[in-house]
Parts: sequence; C-alpha cells; structure tokens
Amino acid sequence: MGRISGTTFRKYLRDLICIPSPSGREEPIAMWCELELEERGFEVEIDHAGNVLAKRGEGPFVLLNAHMDTTQSKDDVREIRDGGLRRPRLDLRYGFDDKVGIAIIMTLAEIDDLPFKVLLTVGEEVGGIGVKEISCESYEDVICCLTLDRGNAREMVTSINGINLATDGWLDVIDRAFRRGGFPFDRVGGRGSDARAISKYVPTVNLSVGIHEMHTPYEFVKIDEALWTAKAVLHLLMNRGLLEMKG
Ligand SMILES: [Zn+2]
Repeated sequence: MGRISGTTFRKYLRDLICIPSPSGREEPIAMWCELELEERGFEVEIDHAGNVLAKRGEGPFVLLNAHMDTTQSKDDVREIRDGGLRRPRLDLRYGFDDKVGIAIIMTLAEIDDLPFKVLLTVGEEVGGIGVKEISCESYEDVICCLTLDRGNAREMVTSINGINLATDGWLDVIDRAFRRGGFPFDRVGGRGSDARAISKYVPTVNLSVGIHEMHTPYEFVKIDEALWTAKAVLHLLMNRGLLEMKG
C-alpha cells in the first residue's frame, strides 16, 4: 500500500504558501485545492460559503479537516516568491497555519485509492465562520474527524475550553488506534478551532502538525514532525476497522 513521501509533502507546502489566502480571500486557494483533488479522483464541491468538501472511495469515512485562511499577507507572498523560501526570513509570515494541514491532506491524496473525506474551511481565523455553514448531512457518512491544525508535535487536542470533542469511549478508541500503529499522541486541552464545531456532529480530535510559534511572525514548521503526523493519519485511514468497535 501507499507511503508518505517527504518530497511530495514539501512540494505541496511550497505551492500552498505561494498562494495568498487571508481570511475572506480564500477563493484562489480553494480552486487550486479543488483541481488537485479532482485530478486525484475525488468528488469535490465548493459550497456557498467557499468551503471545499471532497471525498474518494466508499464510506463510512474518516474526515480530514484543515483551514485555508491564514494570517499571511500578500506582501509576504511576494517576498517568498522572490526567494524567501530558499533563504527563510523570520520577518515573513509563511502561513504554515494551516497550510501544513492542507499539505498533509494533499500528500495523502497522492496515495492511489486511499478512501477519505476532506473538509477545507474558510474563515477559521476570524471565528470559524466557514465551518458553521456545513450542514449536518455532510457528516452522515463520517466515522470521526481528524483536524490537522494543532501546533507542536505528537499532541492530540481532545477538549476545547474544557469541553470534550468526543466521549471518553471514543477518545480511547482513537487513541488506541494510533498507538497500535506506533503513534502515541499526548492528550491535551486546546483553544478554539474548527474541531469544536465539527465535534457537535462526529467524534473529533485536533492533531499536532509540527508548527511552532504559531500566530507569530516567527512561525516555523518542523518537517519531520509534520510527516510523523501524516504517517499516523495514513495508519488510521488504512485501518478504519480499528475505529468500528464503537458507534
Ligand atoms: Zn490554524
């Protein structure tokens, strides 16, 4: 079966951070993601709010979620295109939050016939306005959701502001499924993200993607940590049976 390619991940991350997508201006990146996913056999839809919904294969699905908007500005992107990528500059916002999450999803999409569902939202950084527009029917064929929008490494956000994102039973199932593949996450509490809204419909956790100094101009990503999470997610997608003991 498929493997995670570090080269593929880097290529996607480079492409993604060169497309400006401040909150409210996500259309170009949404269209880019739509095209990439369609080429890989996904059924893709952009809803009235601008969110990208996609699926490939037979359900029930694990849903992978990331947000398309960033705190990166157009000027940052211009500088990056000018060579900032080859020579990283600390005063540039690269928009790793949450383009690392999207790059992980795209890297998984490169693996032929791997079935999963995708939700890329708009407006996460400005109150999660995109995710609120998702209808409950969109979650009907979903087993659980993995949001890819947590900083640091090997952390799994299981509650937000003290409210659990799934029942204790479900959190144990997800935790155990990762450990079975050799991917032990530390359970932590977190603050606002799309995961909170999604968890009203399906069991959800928010996973670390190796971004550090999030929401500062000094934001950086540790590629090996992002790839570790990509491999953990691949393990879960290939072993959906581990998630079927609870319902
Ligand atoms: Zn984020």
